[in-house]
Amino acid sequence: MFDKILIANRGEIAVRVIRACKELGIRTVAVYSKADAGSLHVQLADEAICIGEPPSKESYLKIDRIISAAEVADVEAIHPGYGFLSENAHFAEVCENCNIKFIGPTSAAIRAMGDKVLARETVRKAGVPVVPGSDGPVDTEENALKIARKIGYPVIVKAAGGGGGRGMRVAHNDPSLVKGYHTARTEAERAFGNAAVYIEKFIENPRHIEFQILADRKGHVVHLGERDCSLQRRHQKLVEESPSPALTGDLRKKMGKAAIRAAESVEYVNAGTVEFLLDEQGNFYFIEMNTRVQVEHPVTEEVTGIDIVKEQLRIAAGEELGFGQRDIQFQGAAIECRINAEDPFNDFRPSPGCIEFMHVPGGHGVRVDTHMYGGYTIPPHYDSMIGKLICYGRDRRVALERMTRALDEFILRGVKTTIPLHQLILKDPNFRRGRYSTNFVERLLTASQPSVPTNSTEKN
Ligand code: ADP
Repeated sequence: MFDKILIANRGEIAVRVIRACKELGIRTVAVYSKADAGSLHVQLADEAICIGEPPSKESYLKIDRIISAAEVADVEAIHPGYGFLSENAHFAEVCENCNIKFIGPTSAAIRAMGDKVLARETVRKAGVPVVPGSDGPVDTEENALKIARKIGYPVIVKAAGGGGGRGMRVAHNDPSLVKGYHTARTEAERAFGNAAVYIEKFIENPRHIEFQILADRKGHVVHLGERDCSLQRRHQKLVEESPSPALTGDLRKKMGKAAIRAAESVEYVNAGTVEFLLDEQGNFYFIEMNTRVQVEHPVTEEVTGIDIVKEQLRIAAGEELGFGQRDIQFQGAAIECRINAEDPFNDFRPSPGCIEFMHVPGGHGVRVDTHMYGGYTIPPHYDSMIGKLICYGRDRRVALERMTRALDEFILRGVKTTIPLHQLILKDPNFRRGRYSTNFVERLLTASQPSVPTNSTEKN
């Protein structure tokens, strides 16, 4: 096992990785921007190195500064967390060349899955169903129209280098496709420096079901079951749960096998997630693979008892998986609510600032992963997610009751958060019955706009 690693990230995931390292007896080095000097990850790590100015481009995305910090601190490996450089194949390559272990897959696997057009093609050849769509990137408006007419409207234009729900446009007819094609390209160019787009059939009312994968260097690949991440806003996840209320044992087996095949098609190593859309008829289609640890990984940890970050460290250190597919037991139900510093009833406007007072829920089956503390100031430069509330129960009903109770206990004064929205979701009869799809949140927001409970907005 490693003796010392560097965490090239911030926020709750940096704290999460430090915790796993401490339990494994690994010393940790935090890196931070000038805006994060007072951050929890800086305080919890054994060493901390400032790598630049607040904007990510000047710090958390600066490969040369991070590598210099790793060399100065003399670490054996780097954990990239999620976001920032975690899916940057060049960064993984630089680490490989500098003899620093990148805690994640090879740069080749990141590259193969990072281009979503190439990823579709690779997994399709391996026998994994993909959403019907274009064979490759669509480079002219005429071709876009030809493909859309062939597969039939509605369609969705997506960025080949996409992520975070950006660079996507739904089109219901020729004129909206022409408009969507150009806006998606412009957005993709701006966000990812790559204007390439492709077209998929737009699946109506789908569920987003993803499978957690672990793979070691000896070629053993297992899945840790699914997470239902259908509760989204603008294609960004808000709530995740496992098991999915929509899956039968049979479907779980089929999708799990397909997820493993997808990982094997790129000789995947370490933790990753294979994402699918499930349509109303029970057909599933691969949409992408995320080649890193995900925000929602705790949900899987709660139902399997497997510490995914520790497994990432073990795999990167060259250890074999200590269990096979049959050894993985699923027990109970877990749900996660993402706590963002945003005003959900004012178009999710970011709400950075000082947390004047904070009370974190506790008790049996309640887990809070966060870098916040009372008096902490949320800087305006980064993602607005400030914590995750995860509740576990022996079944879904208990997990939901616990989540309702824990959300009521969570007090954050000084900033607006998504907590009141989660309270609304948890009350919804359809959600409670497990009946929801990716458009659930938008519908709920539209329906509930005039009757927003103002007291809970203030309280939280
Ligand atoms: P990103 O990499 O930006 O997260 P994904 O391909 O993972 O993009 O898709 C994110 C979300 O967008 C999905 O969970 C789903 O809600 C929606 N989406 C993507 N592709 C389709 C599609 N073909 N039909 C319907 N919804 C889609």
